[in-house]
Amino acid sequence: MKISYGHQFIAPRDIKEVVKILRSDWLTQGPQIKKFENALAHYCGAKYAVVVSSGTAALHLAYLAAGLKKGDEVITTPNTFVATTNMLLAVEVKPVFCDIRLDTYNIDETKIEKLINKKTKAIVPVHFAGQPCEMEMINQIAQKNKLLIIEDSCHALGAKYKNSRVGGCKYSDMSVFSFHPVKSITTGEGGAILTNNECYYKKLLLFRSHGTFKDKNGKNVMVQFGYNYRLTDIQAALGLSQLEKLENFIKKRCQIVGWYVEGLKDCRDIVLPRELPHNHSSWNLFVIRTTEEKQRDRLSGYLKKMGIGVNFHYPSVCSHPFYKVHGYGKNNCPMEDEYALTTITLPLYPLLSKDEVNHICRIIKEFYER
Ligand SMILES: *Cc1c(COP(=O)(O)O)cnc(C)c1O
Repeated sequence: MKISYGHQFIAPRDIKEVVKILRSDWLTQGPQIKKFENALAHYCGAKYAVVVSSGTAALHLAYLAAGLKKGDEVITTPNTFVATTNMLLAVEVKPVFCDIRLDTYNIDETKIEKLINKKTKAIVPVHFAGQPCEMEMINQIAQKNKLLIIEDSCHALGAKYKNSRVGGCKYSDMSVFSFHPVKSITTGEGGAILTNNECYYKKLLLFRSHGTFKDKNGKNVMVQFGYNYRLTDIQAALGLSQLEKLENFIKKRCQIVGWYVEGLKDCRDIVLPRELPHNHSSWNLFVIRTTEEKQRDRLSGYLKKMGIGVNFHYPSVCSHPFYKVHGYGKNNCPMEDEYALTTITLPLYPLLSKDEVNHICRIIKEFYER
């Protein structure tokens, strides 16, 4: 049995919606974009949504709209996809890495404040694997020190923190999502920025489309620097149709996590992920940790040999050769270092069956009983 680590769920209805757009007048810059944005903003409980061509583009535009610039510093987590910090580098901002908590693998909010200095402009928490960060405390720190908060919510569409939906921006200035096929919903490539701030919203719209807008006479006028980071109507139609299934996707993911926990609860050699009581994770990833460092590569090698698509989320951003060369190799993040050497991501996606999960659990137990 071969099992991949992630897979999208495309229903016949999704295909029908996409084909409808292919037969329509607008492949891009048509009515589907606004519809998708309204649906996203409504679902998350934010005033505004701007959809763009990827999560990475969304991060880039959020940083630009926030006014981050050369010489600024931003505090974030090393346990994230490189795009979070690559886009900081794109606006010539220095990422400052804060250690993680070993229970949630999110940024350790108690270690943020000592990293703040005069250059610090923002905090970028990443809701790792779909579990929200401690936003109340992060928000208090930001208010006290006059910092912005931009959430990297790429794993967390559908997650809730203390009964508020991630993306509603109750504790932040902007929240960024991705619609890559391994995320909660997909548009192939795609992303979004949500905000309650009209000023950011207007800037984001301009940045997305060459810095231009249509004036009263329908003429394109360029008023600021900008890009083409637009999503197509084809993708927006897929996104709208996918969004209708989001609640079911999350329910299914929770159910699969339940199967894993049941199957692995007696296995003393691995640590299962922990969800804080006030959180509802969107369960984008299911990560386990080996209690011994040297077992991680052996166990993941065994799983791979048995046809199971495992992955690592994430090697510390600082550990990539590029970041090392640019002086980020030495950081004071001992929890992250321990985490990165012991973590394995197991397959998790709505199409995964109970038999497949049981099969994976059996292989893990077999590994330790050999
Ligand atoms: C997926 C992801 C991104 C980037 O999104 P893309 O749509 O692939 O560009 C950024 N940050 C995190 C945490 C992600 O998981």
